[in-house]
Amino acid sequence: MEKQIQHLQALAKKSDQLEVTEEERTNYLAQIKDFTNKYIQELPELKAYLQRWPDKEKLKITGQPQSLSSALQLFREEVNETGLRAASGGHVGYIPGGGIYTAALGDFLAAISNEYAGVAYASPGAVAIENEVLNWLKSTFHYPSTAVGNLTSGGSMANLIALTAARDAYEVKNEKIPKSVIYLSSQAHHCIQKALRIIGLGDVIVRLLPLDEKYRIIPEKLSELVEKDAEEGLLPFLVIASAGTTDVGAIDPLNEIATIAKRFNLWFHIDAAYGGFFILTSAKNRLTGIEKADSLVVDPHKGMFLPYGIGAVLVKNAQAVLASNNYSANYMQDSIDDELTESPANLSPELTKHFRGMRIWLPLQLHGIEPFVACLEEKLLLVDYFRKRLVENGFSVGPEPDLSVSYFWFACEHDENALNKKLMDLIHEDGRVFFSSTLLDGRFVIRIAILSFRTKKETMDKALEMIIECLAMAKKSLGLQ
Ligand SMILES: *Cc1c(COP(=O)(O)O)cnc(C)c1O
Repeated sequence: MEKQIQHLQALAKKSDQLEVTEEERTNYLAQIKDFTNKYIQELPELKAYLQRWPDKEKLKITGQPQSLSSALQLFREEVNETGLRAASGGHVGYIPGGGIYTAALGDFLAAISNEYAGVAYASPGAVAIENEVLNWLKSTFHYPSTAVGNLTSGGSMANLIALTAARDAYEVKNEKIPKSVIYLSSQAHHCIQKALRIIGLGDVIVRLLPLDEKYRIIPEKLSELVEKDAEEGLLPFLVIASAGTTDVGAIDPLNEIATIAKRFNLWFHIDAAYGGFFILTSAKNRLTGIEKADSLVVDPHKGMFLPYGIGAVLVKNAQAVLASNNYSANYMQDSIDDELTESPANLSPELTKHFRGMRIWLPLQLHGIEPFVACLEEKLLLVDYFRKRLVENGFSVGPEPDLSVSYFWFACEHDENALNKKLMDLIHEDGRVFFSSTLLDGRFVIRIAILSFRTKKETMDKALEMIIECLAMAKKSLGLQ
């Protein structure tokens, strides 16, 4: 006994180091404060993209303690100064994210108190915040209060939960799988196809729908296809629309698709990971019909400018979500009195999870909604402004965008794709502002995706200057002019 007590005391002496003292906490926080303040202050001047990879040796875990200042130096040199600087307003490629400060404070509070956000019984307060965020989303998207939802790590997981619910609502399994049909646009995000494979629907029939000149689903074609499939004895069960495609930001005709889905008894899913939050702006009419979907995905780490790690799904049919996710076990017996749909764990593959609600609840408490709305409105206007400036400078631009994603290219008679590819490479080498590219019907185009809360008029003016310089170099290197 005496020996054991001595051993415990010796161990406690070491393990106590994990509970850092108030003095150390103050010191750590002061360093983090200085580091992050400096980073945010310098962001407008820093390149948005660096074609540099980390020295992985330097990041090795040795098992020996080191100082916070040396860890911060490594973080800066080997993480912040490699690749895409996602916190920069100069990130206008892919679909940009955000990283608002007050959300980081919410994460900090969630982590320090380590509230358990999976089961209502464990932390009714944390779960109440998760559910309040979902209630706010339901009212924002005009969903009924009886709908259920979940805060996920991102849009991909949110889509996975929704598609699983559709599968279970229609009992698509066994011999029904190869006869079941899903309708979607070739512009749908690739996480949809990935989710179908994961949930065992890799062998369903997927009809890629014909698109109009703005890359939107043509409703008449959808109803023709569904009718034909049904006549042939197949089992149409799901149609997937996008409210803001990743490539060009197109919004499928949601209202018309809703009508067709209803007529043919299809589950209607909308992936609004990119475009959903524009419902808060003057562009809301473009999203009419979004409330008619059976399931909806939005990505607060895009349209609410939050740091990466939060998506959301809303589903009207609670039973369908419970069917795959609700499970009880003996070691969970204390929690069985919960209302089933109250606990996030019953509606998601995750049991224990990060208390994500805090990173959206706290910013909404501190800022109110107005700055978010203004920021989204600003993005819509910025893409319009930038397109005009590009045209003034001889570039071609895609059709009037639905939201804040568009594209441009420099038209020329010969080697147009080669010139634009070279232009893209030079823009990446330059790195002041980061763009990404895509292929549309064989044409190489450069995308404009404005969604970071830090992207301002000055950012886009700087981008234009850079693009004009890079175009001159591209032309020269290809021997044009
Ligand atoms: C970003 C995006 C996704 C994937 O979401 P993640 O948060 O990256 O997992 C899905 N669909 C659309 C339309 C997107 O823009």
